[in-house]
Amino acid sequence: MKIRPDLRVARVEDLDATILREMNVRGLLLDVDETLLASGATAVDATVEAWVTSLRGAGLHLALVSNGRPSRVDFVSRTLAIPGTALTGKPFPRAYLRAAHRFGVPMDTIAMVGDQLFTDVLGARWAGLRTVLVDPRSDGGLLHTRLLRHVEKRLLRDAPHGRTAWRT
Ligand SMILES: [Mg+2]
Repeated sequence: MKIRPDLRVARVEDLDATILREMNVRGLLLDVDETLLASGATAVDATVEAWVTSLRGAGLHLALVSNGRPSRVDFVSRTLAIPGTALTGKPFPRAYLRAAHRFGVPMDTIAMVGDQLFTDVLGARWAGLRTVLVDPRSDGGLLHTRLLRHVEKRLLRDAPHGRTAWRT
């Protein structure tokens, strides 16, 4: 089985409005930890703040969809002025669909952006959304996350950064 995101980029900042327009993406659901900031980080990089500002300027709908704690998600939500939901229960489709419906645009014009192949990409794919996989922002994380990274690396070994065809 091949598990592929629609697009693979090194960092969220690489995901500019031009690429999103070419993909006909009008809204982004954003994972928080290791996607927008390292899981141990207590501040959001200025580059990420600038990226959010530019996408907002381009008219993109944005929401945070995280399995993280409410206090963590609230902090990032306030910093970036993006509505956020914590403890969403990814990879179950309801986690993405609740936030996606609020955008009021077709589901296939919304992309989930995250660092985990199973929770962020596979789950969103099940929900009928587009998917973008980013490299994790740090090497840290929980033990089970680190173990999953090895599995993800194997599954993605022939999928370089850039557009990837979804195949199963
Ligand atoms: Mg994450």
